[in-house]
Amino acid sequence: MKNYFYGMILCISFASCIGESKKATAKTVQDLNAEFDNYKNRFIDNLWKVYPGWASSQGYHKYDSVLIIPDNASRLKELAFAKANLDSLKSFAINQLSDNNKTDYYMIENQLKSIEWSINEMKSYEWNPSEYNVSGAFAEILNGNYDSLDIRLNNFYLKMSDIPAFYEAAKKNIKNPTLEHTQLAIDQNLGGISVFEFDLQEALNKANIGDRKKQTIEARAKQAVVAIKDFTKWLKITANKTPRSFRLGKELYAKKFEFDIQSGYTAEQIYEKALNRKDELHEKMFELSDKLWDNYLKSITKPTDKLLLIKQLIDKISEKHVKPEAFQSAIEKQMPLLIDFIKKKNLIYIDPTKPLVVRKEPDYMAGVAGASISAPGPYDKNGNTYYNVGSLAGWDKERAESYLREYNQYILQILNIHEAIPGHYTQLVYSNQSPSLIKSIFGNGAMVEGWAVYTERMMLENGYENSDEMWLMYYKWNLRTTCNTLLDYGVHTKEMSRESAINLLTNEAFQQKAEAEGKWKRVSLTQVQLCSYFTGYSEIYDFREELKKQMGDQFNLKEFHEKFLSYGSAPVKYIKELILAEMNKESK
Ligand code: ZN
Ligand code: ZN
Repeated sequence: MKNYFYGMILCISFASCIGESKKATAKTVQDLNAEFDNYKNRFIDNLWKVYPGWASSQGYHKYDSVLIIPDNASRLKELAFAKANLDSLKSFAINQLSDNNKTDYYMIENQLKSIEWSINEMKSYEWNPSEYNVSGAFAEILNGNYDSLDIRLNNFYLKMSDIPAFYEAAKKNIKNPTLEHTQLAIDQNLGGISVFEFDLQEALNKANIGDRKKQTIEARAKQAVVAIKDFTKWLKITANKTPRSFRLGKELYAKKFEFDIQSGYTAEQIYEKALNRKDELHEKMFELSDKLWDNYLKSITKPTDKLLLIKQLIDKISEKHVKPEAFQSAIEKQMPLLIDFIKKKNLIYIDPTKPLVVRKEPDYMAGVAGASISAPGPYDKNGNTYYNVGSLAGWDKERAESYLREYNQYILQILNIHEAIPGHYTQLVYSNQSPSLIKSIFGNGAMVEGWAVYTERMMLENGYENSDEMWLMYYKWNLRTTCNTLLDYGVHTKEMSRESAINLLTNEAFQQKAEAEGKWKRVSLTQVQLCSYFTGYSEIYDFREELKKQMGDQFNLKEFHEKFLSYGSAPVKYIKELILAEMNKESK
């Protein structure tokens, strides 16, 4: 057989031939899958009833007028939902489900268990006051264009009625909150008031509803603002003598890692991997910097400190960057070059009928310069996918210079690989080919980010822009992902101090002080998310290497990529399991 994946397709059709001769079994399997599809639809209908705010954020607007009051009764309802659905899942024989349904099954099960764990063990509703903030959901109603303004304003009005009760319930929940999340809650809630004042006023000015109705809405908005201010005041004055630490601790961290990432590795294993990767990267970076030194800094004495030597050379090479006004066009010009390279090297099929639309970042996203992908939500299937490129117009010279040095000529190309081709955008095109509402809603972040990070390395390994400078910059970029993992695990489970965190990021990962300080803030407010990139990347890379070893000459990179992506945004460990199971079946 010429290659493995081709063989697998043959094998699948062979299996269905056997099915024909045993019609009874084949029909049952088919029925079971149809039944499971029905179950999934019911599951999502019920999910949105229990979580109407989540529904709105996914583009499902039936429950826009509902605000859930976060009290004990609502938590009991969530637990009942989880239990009932875990029971329903048990009635399906997982081995007889299709691959798509199998992964959906695992993802639903994980979500339900995660709900139970969050309420019973994690209990962040007690210690994280920033979970209580209604403004984002209300802003979305005003900004959305899925319905007429009049209808949206009416939902806004109805939803506001429970805001006072919402914050009263919040006060009852909160016990010994962390100081960091308390401050965040105060800042974000006060910041959110503008939604009920300015944004609402702007919408009312445009709306064609009578003055009477407008006044009723305004009156209710005033009550909402009172409730929000009262909550922030309560947070400020309530004695908190024994605040909880923002550090999650080993046990909770391990569990959260399990639910959020669904990795084949434990959190600790990933931390060990990141430690090794950091040393490996430093070694490689030193070799390259030492080699490149004379080309760039011949007149300067080489520092004896390895990290210092790397840093000085990186600073020098970062001077190669585009002009601020050429930032967007430089990104645009790279798209066809990436596609050509991928074709020439036979790395993955890129569907030419689904070109990526590069656009200037829309105003409402402005401020976050750089580049990002916006994909249509699960309920907006015909929407375009955009590559948003931020403009540096209006930036002062110093800020623009520092930004462009960070996204220099080399890193900019890696960014395009990551965000667009063959990173996020390409993955999205493939996942749309095996549509699953479950995967759109619960899509596995570690797989999605891991794929984008994996493609950076894969492109360079295949000779993309093959130069020492490019590799050096890639290593610096990869070091960021690696150190995010060390930071997250270190801070939450190993008492890593602020000082050693800043030291790690600035001296060992070559980041600017401002960036490092921002990272510290992020790690003190979130848990696990910062290590999803490195975890997903490691799993994909390791799996590929394992397959290469197993298959020898029969391994084909293009087929591996296409096969891997064909499962949609499922956790890497399940994709791996399914691919290996098919291989086993085939070799028998
Ligand atoms: Zn410059
Ligand atoms: Zn990404």
